[in-house]
Amino acid sequence: MQSTVRVVDLPRNNPCAQCGEPIALPSWVEKDGRRTAYLWHCRLCDYRYETIAFYAEAVDEDGALAA
Ligand SMILES: [Zn+2]
Repeated sequence: MQSTVRVVDLPRNNPCAQCGEPIALPSWVEKDGRRTAYLWHCRLCDYRYETIAFYAEAVDEDGALAA
């Protein structure tokens, strides 16, 4: 079980796309190779939206942990 997302990688305080309220943490994170999707849920206006981050290099955490 080494596929958990490191907390330090998470974007924080992303403003709600509808009302601008800062959302402390994404409610869901989905990694897919170089792409990471974050699902945000605003508790103020109940709006949900997704942001996607792309990495220049493929993240291979399994290999990085070999040392
Ligand atoms: Zn909102």
